[in-house]
Amino acid sequence: MAIRPDIPPKNLTEMSREAIAALVADLGEPAYRADQIHGWVFQRGARSLDAMSNLPKRLRARLAEAGYAVGRVEVGQLRESIDGTRKLAVRLDDGAVVETVLIPMGEGRFSQCVSSQVGCALDCKFCYTGTLGLSRHLTPGEIVDQVLLARTLVPDDVRITHIVYMGMGEPLHNFDGVVQSIRVLTDPEGIGFSPRKITVSTSGLVPKIKALGEAVPVNLAISLNASSDAIRDRIMPVNKRYPIETLVEAVDDYPIHSRGKMTMEYVLLGEVNDSDTDAHRLARVLARVRHKVRINLIPWNPFQGPGYDRPEEARVRAFQQILERRRYTVTVRTTKGLDIDAACGQLGERPAS
Ligand code: SF4
Repeated sequence: MAIRPDIPPKNLTEMSREAIAALVADLGEPAYRADQIHGWVFQRGARSLDAMSNLPKRLRARLAEAGYAVGRVEVGQLRESIDGTRKLAVRLDDGAVVETVLIPMGEGRFSQCVSSQVGCALDCKFCYTGTLGLSRHLTPGEIVDQVLLARTLVPDDVRITHIVYMGMGEPLHNFDGVVQSIRVLTDPEGIGFSPRKITVSTSGLVPKIKALGEAVPVNLAISLNASSDAIRDRIMPVNKRYPIETLVEAVDDYPIHSRGKMTMEYVLLGEVNDSDTDAHRLARVLARVRHKVRINLIPWNPFQGPGYDRPEEARVRAFQQILERRRYTVTVRTTKGLDIDAACGQLGERPAS
């Protein structure tokens, strides 16, 4: 199966300023045209070559003839949850659909969860996206486009302040695409996100964790979800290749900025990984990185199929308290977007009923 997208890499939304400058030079145009194109795409949010009104028609035509476009995606269905979460379906050039979610953080701020693949190969048993299998990686432009599109859908007084790579797909499986998208998103003369406001979440592709730390200074989140290899093997097949100890070692080696902490995500599945014994064992497993991590507990968000239970609130609190007594920083994720299948682990097109 080809997992690289079979579409030409001529999406201006994935090109660096240097790449646009080289393109403009190749076309024999003056250098300032590159600044104009870059500004239209990344600051003014143009969605077509025709919208670039101060470029000569001749140049727009030449770009189009050469196959360049601004974004190769279309807005699909937009759904809004009663809690203010918005889920946007994004239709790609080849007809595939991915989803991106805007999560309200209060005071007119949103965090955006972006997808990095169509489906996912990792097959985590508690995740709807995992049931879809992997169709293909997204191009860097298709990732950046999710952010550019979302900006057009929120009111002017609302800001998207954080980006999390926690949507459909395993970001580190699409390593090159994700890293290039981060470079575009963090270009200070373009979209200008601080890398500190970007978090990449991985199920634990250990060699790529080190490579990510060397490539871009973003935050890391690990989807851990178990306190023993026996349990993790069952719910996350990736653990057979990269067991917990190697994962904790990679976390220990990952560069973190001063006072920053990495997030260890732990999806609580009733009577699978949510007992007091699990909490005590988790505290032991993470002991060597305790000062570097915060644990984020996520009561499982149900979808039909795998037969798990969402634990009661009292069980979640008990689990949290055990870890806190062992001096861990522990948060419980507030569930957002459950009514529109936009919560963690629920993304992916449902078959028409
Ligand atoms: S949790 Fe993440 S890595 Fe696992 S199947 Fe779902 S999308 Fe893939």
